[in-house]
Amino acid sequence: MVKVLESLEVEVVGGRRVYRCLKCEHVLGPATEDYKNYALKHDAPFSKAQPIGLVIKSDMYVLREYYCPKCATMFEVDAVLKEEKQIHSIQLKK
Ligand SMILES: [Zn+2]
Repeated sequence: MVKVLESLEVEVVGGRRVYRCLKCEHVLGPATEDYKNYALKHDAPFSKAQPIGLVIKSDMYVLREYYCPKCATMFEVDAVLKEEKQIHSIQLKK
């Protein structure tokens, strides 16, 4: 087992390496791909992360949150431009 994020691990299941939720053991998908393709994705307004008074008055940025589709544990949050493509944050060595 390799822990790759707070609530995400890479585990061998049925002879192949997969991403698995550490909380509920839900298998997301093959570890050769970006786990984010299998996670629940939610774009939240950027103001969510900002202290009141320092809110960026712009909707150019979003907080892109990734959750386990089964137990809704949050894996990761990317602060990105709204139009930005998904950030491939975990790349396993072959
Ligand atoms: Zn889960």
